[in-house]
Amino acid sequence: MKTGHVPMRTCRGCGRKAPKVELTRFVLRKGLLHEDTGKRMVGRGAYCCANVACRNRFEKSKKMLKRVFRFQA
Ligand SMILES: [Zn+2]
Repeated sequence: MKTGHVPMRTCRGCGRKAPKVELTRFVLRKGLLHEDTGKRMVGRGAYCCANVACRNRFEKSKKMLKRVFRFQA
């Protein structure tokens, strides 16, 4: 088996799986989503593609996301 070490994450906008480095990370803090530009914010993260369509869907699904975050806790 030859898998290598590419961490895959799921985009919350479109649901596709992509290498972590290709996705933007968001962190939920105090009920607000923050873009983790420096990749070092502490907290539970969610990932989203860098394109606008995904970002829009991601924004719209914030309520759902909060539930997701709770489930991950
Ligand atoms: Zn996406």
